[in-house]
Amino acid sequence: MLETRSASACSATRRRFYRLVSNPFPVLKLAPLPRVAPRYPRAFAFCLGDPLRSAPGFLISFALFANPELRRWALDVERLLPSCFLNLPSSFLLSRVDFRVKPSLTGIILEELADSLRERGAASYRAKQITDWIYKKRVGSFDAMTDLPHKLRAELATEFDAPMMDVVRVLGSKDTTQKILFRLRDQNLIESVLIPASPALYGQPSDRRTICVSSQVGCAYGCKFCASGLEGWTRNLDGAEMVQQLIEIEKKSGEKIDNVVFMGMGEPLANLKNLLRAIRIINAPWGLGIGARHITVSTSGLAPQIRELANQSMQFRLALSLHGATDEVRGQIMPVNRRYPLKVLLEACDYYVAKKRRMTFEYILIAGVNDTDEQARELAKIARRLSAKINLIPYNTVEGLEWSRPSRARQEKFQSILRKHGVIATLRREKGHDIAAACGQLRLQTSRSMKAPAISKT
Ligand code: SAH
Ligand code: SF4
Repeated sequence: MLETRSASACSATRRRFYRLVSNPFPVLKLAPLPRVAPRYPRAFAFCLGDPLRSAPGFLISFALFANPELRRWALDVERLLPSCFLNLPSSFLLSRVDFRVKPSLTGIILEELADSLRERGAASYRAKQITDWIYKKRVGSFDAMTDLPHKLRAELATEFDAPMMDVVRVLGSKDTTQKILFRLRDQNLIESVLIPASPALYGQPSDRRTICVSSQVGCAYGCKFCASGLEGWTRNLDGAEMVQQLIEIEKKSGEKIDNVVFMGMGEPLANLKNLLRAIRIINAPWGLGIGARHITVSTSGLAPQIRELANQSMQFRLALSLHGATDEVRGQIMPVNRRYPLKVLLEACDYYVAKKRRMTFEYILIAGVNDTDEQARELAKIARRLSAKINLIPYNTVEGLEWSRPSRARQEKFQSILRKHGVIATLRREKGHDIAAACGQLRLQTSRSMKAPAISKT
Protein backbone atom coordinates (compact mmCIF):
# COMPACT_ATOMS: atom_id res chain seq x y z
CA MET A 1 0.00 0.00 0.00
CA LEU A 2 2.84 2.37 0.74
CA GLU A 3 5.01 3.82 -1.97
CA THR A 4 8.60 3.36 -1.01
CA ARG A 5 11.94 4.71 -2.10
CA SER A 6 14.26 2.49 -4.10
CA ALA A 7 15.10 -0.48 -1.95
CA SER A 8 18.83 0.14 -1.82
CA ALA A 9 18.45 3.74 -0.72
CA CYS A 10 16.74 2.99 2.51
CA SER A 11 16.46 -0.72 3.09
CA ALA A 12 18.55 -0.56 6.24
CA THR A 13 16.39 2.22 7.65
CA ARG A 14 13.26 0.36 6.66
CA ARG A 15 14.47 -2.83 8.27
CA ARG A 16 15.10 -0.88 11.44
CA PHE A 17 11.66 0.69 11.17
CA TYR A 18 9.89 -2.63 10.75
CA ARG A 19 11.89 -4.13 13.58
CA LEU A 20 10.76 -1.24 15.72
CA VAL A 21 7.10 -1.41 14.84
CA SER A 22 6.78 -5.17 14.75
CA ASN A 23 8.35 -5.60 18.10
CA PRO A 24 6.94 -2.94 20.30
CA PHE A 25 6.27 -3.64 23.89
CA PRO A 26 3.91 -6.57 23.62
CA VAL A 27 2.68 -6.55 27.16
CA LEU A 28 1.61 -2.96 27.03
CA LYS A 29 0.21 -3.39 23.58
CA LEU A 30 -2.23 -5.93 24.93
CA ALA A 31 -3.09 -3.97 28.02
CA PRO A 32 -6.62 -2.61 27.74
CA LEU A 33 -6.25 1.10 27.47
CA PRO A 34 -9.06 2.20 29.78
CA ARG A 35 -7.47 0.21 32.59
CA VAL A 36 -3.97 1.48 31.97
CA ALA A 37 -4.67 5.02 30.86
CA PRO A 38 -6.17 6.56 34.00
CA ARG A 39 -2.95 5.83 35.81
CA TYR A 40 -1.01 7.44 32.97
CA PRO A 41 -2.84 10.56 31.97
CA ARG A 42 -0.16 11.43 29.43
CA ALA A 43 -0.55 8.20 27.48
CA PHE A 44 -0.46 8.55 23.75
CA ALA A 45 -0.71 6.06 20.94
CA PHE A 46 0.78 5.66 17.53
CA CYS A 47 -1.68 4.75 14.91
CA LEU A 48 -0.35 3.49 11.62
CA GLY A 49 -2.52 2.82 8.65
CA ASP A 50 -5.38 4.16 6.68
CA PRO A 51 -8.22 4.94 9.07
CA LEU A 52 -10.84 4.41 6.40
CA ARG A 53 -9.59 1.17 4.94
CA SER A 54 -8.22 -0.44 8.03
CA ALA A 55 -10.38 1.34 10.58
CA PRO A 56 -9.71 2.06 13.32
CA GLY A 57 -6.13 1.99 12.12
CA PHE A 58 -3.45 -0.40 13.13
CA LEU A 59 -2.59 0.46 16.67
CA ILE A 60 1.04 -0.37 17.05
CA SER A 61 1.47 0.42 20.64
CA PHE A 62 1.20 3.26 22.99
CA ALA A 63 3.92 5.04 24.78
CA LEU A 64 3.92 6.73 28.09
CA PHE A 65 5.74 9.89 28.88
CA ALA A 66 6.36 8.42 32.29
CA ASN A 67 8.36 5.55 30.83
CA PRO A 68 11.69 6.67 29.29
CA GLU A 69 12.22 3.39 27.42
CA LEU A 70 8.81 3.57 25.77
CA ARG A 71 9.28 7.19 25.02
CA ARG A 72 12.59 6.50 23.24
CA TRP A 73 10.86 3.85 21.16
CA ALA A 74 8.07 6.21 20.23
CA LEU A 75 10.44 8.96 19.21
CA ASP A 76 12.50 6.50 17.14
CA VAL A 77 9.42 5.44 15.19
CA GLU A 78 8.46 9.02 14.61
CA ARG A 79 11.94 9.99 13.45
CA LEU A 80 12.41 7.02 11.15
CA LEU A 81 9.07 7.08 9.47
CA PRO A 82 9.54 10.02 7.09
CA SER A 83 12.94 8.76 6.00
CA CYS A 84 11.59 5.30 5.13
CA PHE A 85 9.01 6.38 2.64
CA LEU A 86 9.41 8.84 -0.16
CA ASN A 87 5.79 9.68 -0.80
CA LEU A 88 3.35 9.03 1.93
CA PRO A 89 0.00 8.54 0.20
CA SER A 90 -2.47 11.13 1.38
CA SER A 91 -4.55 8.46 3.06
CA PHE A 92 -1.61 7.31 5.12
CA LEU A 93 -1.75 8.39 8.69
CA LEU A 94 0.74 8.43 11.46
CA SER A 95 -1.00 10.24 14.20
CA ARG A 96 0.05 10.66 17.72
CA VAL A 97 -3.18 10.42 19.60
CA ASP A 98 -3.06 12.00 22.98
CA PHE A 99 -5.62 9.83 24.68
CA ARG A 100 -8.23 11.97 26.23
CA VAL A 101 -8.20 10.07 29.43
CA LYS A 102 -9.62 13.06 31.21
CA PRO A 103 -12.61 14.86 29.76
CA SER A 104 -12.13 18.51 28.99
CA LEU A 105 -13.51 21.36 31.08
CA THR A 106 -15.60 22.81 28.27
CA GLY A 107 -17.55 19.58 27.86
CA ILE A 108 -19.03 19.85 31.36
CA ILE A 109 -22.81 19.73 31.66
CA LEU A 110 -24.36 21.37 34.72
CA GLU A 111 -26.77 18.58 35.64
CA GLU A 112 -24.14 15.83 35.25
CA LEU A 113 -21.68 17.77 37.37
CA ALA A 114 -24.30 18.42 40.07
CA ASP A 115 -25.03 14.67 40.23
CA SER A 116 -21.39 13.79 40.52
CA LEU A 117 -20.79 16.41 43.24
CA ARG A 118 -23.78 15.11 45.17
CA GLU A 119 -22.46 11.55 44.94
CA ARG A 120 -19.17 12.56 46.50
CA GLY A 121 -20.86 14.56 49.23
CA ALA A 122 -20.12 18.05 47.95
CA ALA A 123 -22.84 20.70 47.77
CA SER A 124 -24.52 20.54 44.38
CA TYR A 125 -24.86 24.36 44.16
CA ARG A 126 -21.12 24.27 43.48
CA ALA A 127 -21.96 22.94 40.02
CA LYS A 128 -23.49 26.27 38.99
CA GLN A 129 -20.50 28.14 40.42
CA ILE A 130 -18.22 25.96 38.32
CA THR A 131 -20.18 26.31 35.06
CA ASP A 132 -20.21 30.10 35.63
CA TRP A 133 -16.43 30.08 35.89
CA ILE A 134 -16.09 27.97 32.74
CA TYR A 135 -18.74 29.43 30.44
CA LYS A 136 -19.31 32.97 31.76
CA LYS A 137 -15.96 34.02 33.20
CA ARG A 138 -14.11 31.71 30.80
CA VAL A 139 -11.31 30.54 33.05
CA GLY A 140 -9.25 27.61 31.83
CA SER A 141 -8.41 25.89 35.11
CA PHE A 142 -9.86 25.01 38.50
CA ASP A 143 -7.05 26.96 40.19
CA ALA A 144 -8.71 30.17 39.06
CA MET A 145 -12.05 29.27 40.68
CA THR A 146 -11.30 31.15 43.85
CA ASP A 147 -14.64 30.66 45.60
CA LEU A 148 -14.30 26.86 45.59
CA PRO A 149 -12.65 24.99 48.47
CA HIS A 150 -9.05 24.03 47.67
CA LYS A 151 -9.79 20.37 48.18
CA LEU A 152 -12.60 20.35 45.64
CA ARG A 153 -10.45 22.27 43.14
CA ALA A 154 -7.67 19.70 43.47
CA GLU A 155 -10.11 16.79 43.11
CA LEU A 156 -11.70 18.23 39.98
CA ALA A 157 -8.31 18.96 38.45
CA THR A 158 -7.51 15.26 38.55
CA GLU A 159 -10.73 14.52 36.66
CA PHE A 160 -10.83 17.21 34.00
CA ASP A 161 -8.23 18.64 31.65
CA ALA A 162 -7.78 22.25 30.67
CA PRO A 163 -8.84 22.65 27.04
CA MET A 164 -5.95 22.74 24.58
CA MET A 165 -6.47 24.34 21.22
CA ASP A 166 -3.81 26.56 19.64
CA VAL A 167 -4.49 29.09 16.92
CA VAL A 168 -2.09 28.24 14.08
CA ARG A 169 -3.19 30.70 11.40
CA VAL A 170 -5.78 33.41 10.93
CA LEU A 171 -6.80 34.54 7.48
CA GLY A 172 -8.85 37.63 6.69
CA SER A 173 -9.19 40.89 8.55
CA LYS A 174 -11.26 42.04 11.49
CA ASP A 175 -14.12 43.47 9.45
CA THR A 176 -14.38 40.63 6.92
CA THR A 177 -14.77 36.90 7.20
CA GLN A 178 -11.98 35.45 9.29
CA LYS A 179 -10.82 31.90 9.03
CA ILE A 180 -9.05 30.39 12.01
CA LEU A 181 -6.95 27.25 11.87
CA PHE A 182 -6.62 25.39 15.19
CA ARG A 183 -4.17 22.73 16.23
CA LEU A 184 -5.71 20.17 18.58
CA ARG A 185 -3.88 18.42 21.39
CA ASP A 186 -3.12 15.43 19.15
CA GLN A 187 -1.67 17.76 16.46
CA ASN A 188 -4.65 17.42 14.15
CA LEU A 189 -5.82 20.59 12.42
CA ILE A 190 -9.36 21.93 12.22
CA GLU A 191 -10.78 25.23 11.11
CA SER A 192 -13.57 27.58 12.08
CA VAL A 193 -14.87 30.66 10.29
CA LEU A 194 -16.05 33.87 11.91
CA ILE A 195 -18.45 35.92 9.84
CA PRO A 196 -18.69 39.24 11.65
CA ALA A 197 -21.59 41.67 11.76
CA SER A 198 -21.90 43.59 8.54
CA PRO A 199 -24.42 45.98 7.02
CA ALA A 200 -27.48 43.96 6.12
CA LEU A 201 -29.26 44.18 2.79
CA TYR A 202 -31.17 47.38 3.44
CA GLY A 203 -28.47 49.32 5.22
CA GLN A 204 -29.38 48.61 8.84
CA PRO A 205 -26.65 46.95 10.86
CA SER A 206 -26.90 43.19 11.04
CA ASP A 207 -27.00 41.87 14.59
CA ARG A 208 -25.30 38.64 13.74
CA ARG A 209 -21.79 37.45 14.32
CA THR A 210 -21.80 33.92 13.02
CA ILE A 211 -19.31 31.17 13.69
CA CYS A 212 -18.99 28.19 11.42
CA VAL A 213 -17.92 25.24 13.57
CA SER A 214 -16.15 22.00 12.56
CA SER A 215 -17.51 18.72 13.89
CA GLN A 216 -14.84 16.27 12.69
CA VAL A 217 -11.22 16.24 11.59
CA GLY A 218 -11.69 15.73 7.84
CA CYS A 219 -14.79 14.07 6.46
CA ALA A 220 -15.56 10.56 5.24
CA TYR A 221 -18.33 11.54 2.83
CA GLY A 222 -16.08 12.66 -0.01
CA CYS A 223 -18.34 15.12 -1.85
CA LYS A 224 -16.54 15.79 -5.10
CA PHE A 225 -16.52 19.57 -4.74
CA CYS A 226 -15.44 19.85 -1.11
CA ALA A 227 -11.98 20.39 0.35
CA SER A 228 -12.88 18.78 3.69
CA GLY A 229 -13.40 15.37 2.16
CA LEU A 230 -10.26 15.38 0.03
CA GLU A 231 -8.01 13.79 2.61
CA GLY A 232 -10.58 11.53 4.21
CA TRP A 233 -11.75 11.28 7.79
CA THR A 234 -9.37 11.23 10.74
CA ARG A 235 -11.54 11.41 13.85
CA ASN A 236 -14.62 12.86 15.48
CA LEU A 237 -14.36 15.97 17.61
CA ASP A 238 -15.75 15.64 21.10
CA GLY A 239 -18.34 18.06 22.46
CA ALA A 240 -15.72 20.12 24.29
CA GLU A 241 -13.70 20.63 21.11
CA MET A 242 -16.76 22.01 19.35
CA VAL A 243 -17.63 24.35 22.23
CA GLN A 244 -14.01 25.41 22.54
CA GLN A 245 -14.01 26.76 18.96
CA LEU A 246 -16.58 29.37 20.03
CA ILE A 247 -14.79 30.23 23.24
CA GLU A 248 -11.42 30.67 21.51
CA ILE A 249 -12.87 32.80 18.74
CA GLU A 250 -14.76 35.07 21.13
CA LYS A 251 -11.55 35.47 23.10
CA LYS A 252 -9.52 36.21 19.99
CA SER A 253 -11.96 38.57 18.27
CA GLY A 254 -13.32 40.25 21.39
CA GLU A 255 -16.79 39.88 19.89
CA LYS A 256 -19.78 38.04 21.24
CA ILE A 257 -21.00 35.35 18.87
CA ASP A 258 -24.74 35.15 18.49
CA ASN A 259 -25.20 32.66 15.69
CA VAL A 260 -23.69 29.20 15.27
CA VAL A 261 -23.67 27.05 12.14
CA PHE A 262 -22.25 23.53 12.05
CA MET A 263 -21.02 23.97 8.50
CA GLY A 264 -17.28 23.66 9.00
CA MET A 265 -15.31 20.54 8.41
CA GLY A 266 -17.05 17.20 8.86
CA GLU A 267 -20.50 15.68 8.78
CA PRO A 268 -22.17 16.62 12.09
CA LEU A 269 -24.82 13.90 11.94
CA ALA A 270 -22.10 11.25 11.67
CA ASN A 271 -20.96 12.43 15.11
CA LEU A 272 -24.40 12.84 16.60
CA LYS A 273 -23.79 12.09 20.26
CA ASN A 274 -20.96 14.61 20.59
CA LEU A 275 -22.84 17.13 18.46
CA LEU A 276 -25.88 17.02 20.73
CA ARG A 277 -23.68 17.43 23.78
CA ALA A 278 -22.03 20.50 22.25
CA ILE A 279 -25.40 22.00 21.29
CA ARG A 280 -26.73 21.44 24.78
CA ILE A 281 -23.81 23.45 26.21
CA ILE A 282 -23.99 26.16 23.54
CA ASN A 283 -27.74 26.56 24.08
CA ALA A 284 -28.07 26.26 27.87
CA PRO A 285 -28.55 29.40 29.98
CA TRP A 286 -25.78 28.10 32.28
CA GLY A 287 -23.60 27.50 29.17
CA LEU A 288 -23.03 29.87 26.27
CA GLY A 289 -26.69 30.87 26.17
CA ILE A 290 -27.19 31.02 22.40
CA GLY A 291 -30.84 30.55 21.42
CA ALA A 292 -31.88 27.39 19.58
CA ARG A 293 -33.13 29.49 16.65
CA HIS A 294 -29.56 30.73 16.21
CA ILE A 295 -28.00 27.27 15.99
CA THR A 296 -28.05 25.50 12.63
CA VAL A 297 -26.78 22.04 11.79
CA SER A 298 -26.02 21.27 8.16
CA THR A 299 -26.06 17.71 6.84
CA SER A 300 -25.21 16.07 3.54
CA GLY A 301 -28.32 13.95 4.04
CA LEU A 302 -27.95 11.04 6.50
CA ALA A 303 -31.55 9.85 6.39
CA PRO A 304 -31.59 7.66 9.56
CA GLN A 305 -30.10 10.43 11.69
CA ILE A 306 -32.59 12.95 10.30
CA ARG A 307 -35.36 10.65 11.53
CA GLU A 308 -33.60 10.28 14.87
CA LEU A 309 -33.47 14.06 15.26
CA ALA A 310 -37.17 14.28 14.50
CA ASN A 311 -37.84 11.99 17.46
CA GLN A 312 -35.88 13.84 20.09
CA SER A 313 -36.61 17.03 21.90
CA MET A 314 -33.52 19.16 21.35
CA GLN A 315 -34.28 22.30 19.40
CA PHE A 316 -32.10 23.80 16.64
CA ARG A 317 -32.39 24.42 12.91
CA LEU A 318 -31.57 21.83 10.29
CA ALA A 319 -30.17 22.60 6.82
CA LEU A 320 -29.92 19.97 4.13
CA SER A 321 -27.11 20.17 1.56
CA LEU A 322 -29.05 19.16 -1.51
CA HIS A 323 -26.87 20.37 -4.40
CA GLY A 324 -28.74 18.26 -6.95
CA ALA A 325 -32.47 17.87 -7.56
CA THR A 326 -32.29 14.46 -9.28
CA ASP A 327 -30.40 11.30 -8.31
CA GLU A 328 -28.38 11.56 -11.50
CA VAL A 329 -27.00 15.03 -10.74
CA ARG A 330 -26.73 14.63 -6.96
CA GLY A 331 -25.11 11.21 -7.27
CA GLN A 332 -22.46 12.65 -9.57
CA ILE A 333 -21.13 15.01 -6.90
CA MET A 334 -22.27 13.50 -3.59
CA PRO A 335 -21.40 9.82 -3.01
CA VAL A 336 -23.77 9.78 0.00
CA ASN A 337 -26.63 9.85 -2.51
CA ARG A 338 -25.88 6.22 -3.39
CA ARG A 339 -26.50 5.22 0.20
CA TYR A 340 -29.53 7.46 0.69
CA PRO A 341 -31.02 8.29 -2.71
CA LEU A 342 -33.46 11.16 -2.95
CA LYS A 343 -36.54 8.99 -2.38
CA VAL A 344 -35.20 7.70 0.94
CA LEU A 345 -33.78 11.07 1.95
CA LEU A 346 -36.92 13.06 1.17
CA GLU A 347 -39.13 10.60 3.04
CA ALA A 348 -36.91 11.14 6.10
CA CYS A 349 -37.30 14.90 5.53
CA ASP A 350 -41.11 14.56 5.28
CA TYR A 351 -41.00 12.79 8.63
CA TYR A 352 -38.79 15.48 10.17
CA VAL A 353 -40.93 18.33 8.89
CA ALA A 354 -44.13 16.64 10.08
CA LYS A 355 -42.76 16.03 13.59
CA LYS A 356 -40.60 19.07 14.10
CA ARG A 357 -40.38 22.11 11.94
CA ARG A 358 -39.28 23.36 8.56
CA MET A 359 -35.82 22.79 7.23
CA THR A 360 -33.79 24.84 4.77
CA PHE A 361 -31.95 23.60 1.73
CA GLU A 362 -28.43 24.59 0.83
CA TYR A 363 -27.78 24.44 -2.88
CA ILE A 364 -24.31 25.26 -4.21
CA LEU A 365 -24.38 26.44 -7.80
CA ILE A 366 -21.66 24.70 -9.83
CA ALA A 367 -21.25 25.71 -13.47
CA GLY A 368 -22.42 23.11 -15.95
CA VAL A 369 -23.26 20.56 -13.24
CA ASN A 370 -26.39 21.49 -11.30
CA ASP A 371 -27.27 24.96 -12.56
CA THR A 372 -29.65 24.14 -15.45
CA ASP A 373 -33.24 25.37 -15.78
CA GLU A 374 -34.36 21.74 -15.51
CA GLN A 375 -32.61 21.33 -12.12
CA ALA A 376 -34.21 24.56 -10.91
CA ARG A 377 -37.68 23.25 -11.81
CA GLU A 378 -37.03 19.89 -10.09
CA LEU A 379 -35.63 21.69 -7.05
CA ALA A 380 -38.76 23.84 -6.85
CA LYS A 381 -40.90 20.69 -6.69
CA ILE A 382 -38.86 19.30 -3.78
CA ALA A 383 -38.90 22.64 -1.95
CA ARG A 384 -42.68 22.93 -2.30
CA ARG A 385 -43.19 19.38 -1.05
CA LEU A 386 -41.30 20.25 2.15
CA SER A 387 -42.20 23.97 2.37
CA ALA A 388 -38.47 24.59 2.45
CA LYS A 389 -36.60 27.79 1.83
CA ILE A 390 -33.53 27.56 -0.38
CA ASN A 391 -30.12 29.19 0.11
CA LEU A 392 -28.32 29.32 -3.21
CA ILE A 393 -24.56 29.54 -2.74
CA PRO A 394 -22.22 30.27 -5.65
CA TYR A 395 -19.48 27.63 -5.54
CA ASN A 396 -16.16 28.60 -3.92
CA THR A 397 -13.32 27.29 -6.03
CA VAL A 398 -11.02 24.79 -4.32
CA GLU A 399 -7.40 24.48 -5.35
CA GLY A 400 -6.89 21.31 -7.35
CA LEU A 401 -10.59 20.80 -8.16
CA GLU A 402 -12.08 21.44 -11.56
CA TRP A 403 -15.42 22.95 -10.53
CA SER A 404 -16.34 26.62 -10.86
CA ARG A 405 -19.29 28.92 -10.17
CA PRO A 406 -21.74 29.93 -12.89
CA SER A 407 -21.90 33.51 -14.17
CA ARG A 408 -23.92 36.00 -12.11
CA ALA A 409 -26.56 36.01 -14.84
CA ARG A 410 -26.96 32.21 -14.64
CA GLN A 411 -27.17 32.34 -10.84
CA GLU A 412 -29.93 34.94 -11.06
CA LYS A 413 -31.82 33.00 -13.73
CA PHE A 414 -31.74 29.90 -11.52
CA GLN A 415 -33.10 31.92 -8.62
CA SER A 416 -35.82 33.49 -10.75
CA ILE A 417 -37.11 30.06 -11.86
CA LEU A 418 -37.44 29.01 -8.23
CA ARG A 419 -39.26 32.22 -7.38
CA LYS A 420 -41.56 31.82 -10.36
CA HIS A 421 -42.60 28.47 -8.87
CA GLY A 422 -43.45 30.12 -5.56
CA VAL A 423 -40.32 29.08 -3.66
CA ILE A 424 -38.41 31.42 -1.36
CA ALA A 425 -34.81 31.39 -2.55
CA THR A 426 -31.97 33.66 -1.48
CA LEU A 427 -28.78 34.00 -3.46
CA ARG A 428 -25.89 34.37 -1.11
CA ARG A 429 -23.24 36.90 -2.00
CA GLU A 430 -21.01 34.78 0.08
CA LYS A 431 -18.09 36.15 2.00
CA GLY A 432 -14.59 34.85 2.13
CA HIS A 433 -14.13 33.67 -1.46
CA ASP A 434 -10.60 35.14 -1.39
CA ILE A 435 -9.52 33.50 1.87
CA ALA A 436 -10.26 29.88 1.09
CA ALA A 437 -13.41 30.10 3.21
CA ALA A 438 -15.10 27.02 1.79
CA CYS A 439 -14.97 24.36 4.43
CA GLY A 440 -11.72 22.47 4.75
CA GLN A 441 -9.65 24.58 2.40
CA LEU A 442 -7.35 26.34 4.84
CA ARG A 443 -6.53 23.11 6.62
CA LEU A 444 -5.83 21.43 3.31
CA GLN A 445 -3.49 24.19 2.17
CA THR A 446 -1.70 24.25 5.53
CA SER A 447 -1.31 20.51 5.93
CA ARG A 448 -0.06 20.22 2.35
CA SER A 449 2.50 22.95 2.84
CA MET A 450 3.59 21.42 6.14
CA LYS A 451 4.00 18.01 4.53
CA ALA A 452 5.91 19.27 1.51
CA PRO A 453 9.36 19.91 3.07
CA ALA A 454 9.34 16.63 5.00
CA ILE A 455 8.71 14.67 1.83
CA SER A 456 11.20 16.49 -0.36
CA LYS A 457 13.94 16.03 2.25
CA THR A 458 13.92 12.26 1.93
N1 SAH B 1 -21.09 17.99 6.08
C1 SAH B 1 -22.12 18.94 6.23
C2 SAH B 1 -21.68 20.24 6.87
C3 SAH B 1 -20.35 20.77 6.46
S1 SAH B 1 -20.24 21.36 4.82
C4 SAH B 1 -22.78 19.20 4.89
O1 SAH B 1 -22.28 18.73 3.88
O2 SAH B 1 -23.82 19.85 4.89
C5 SAH B 1 -21.18 22.87 4.92
C6 SAH B 1 -21.67 23.36 3.60
O3 SAH B 1 -20.57 23.84 2.80
C7 SAH B 1 -22.36 22.28 2.77
O4 SAH B 1 -23.57 22.77 2.25
C8 SAH B 1 -21.35 22.04 1.69
O5 SAH B 1 -21.94 21.49 0.55
C9 SAH B 1 -20.78 23.42 1.47
N2 SAH B 1 -19.53 23.45 0.70
C10 SAH B 1 -18.53 22.56 0.71
N3 SAH B 1 -17.55 22.93 -0.15
C11 SAH B 1 -17.95 24.11 -0.70
C12 SAH B 1 -17.40 24.96 -1.68
N4 SAH B 1 -16.23 24.72 -2.22
N5 SAH B 1 -18.12 26.07 -2.03
C13 SAH B 1 -19.31 26.34 -1.44
N6 SAH B 1 -19.89 25.56 -0.53
C14 SAH B 1 -19.22 24.44 -0.16
FE1 SF4 C 1 -18.21 16.17 4.11
FE2 SF4 C 1 -20.06 18.12 3.97
FE3 SF4 C 1 -17.73 18.32 2.63
FE4 SF4 C 1 -19.55 16.55 1.84
S1 SF4 C 1 -19.76 18.79 1.86
S2 SF4 C 1 -17.33 16.16 2.06
S3 SF4 C 1 -20.38 15.89 3.78
S4 SF4 C 1 -17.99 18.28 4.83
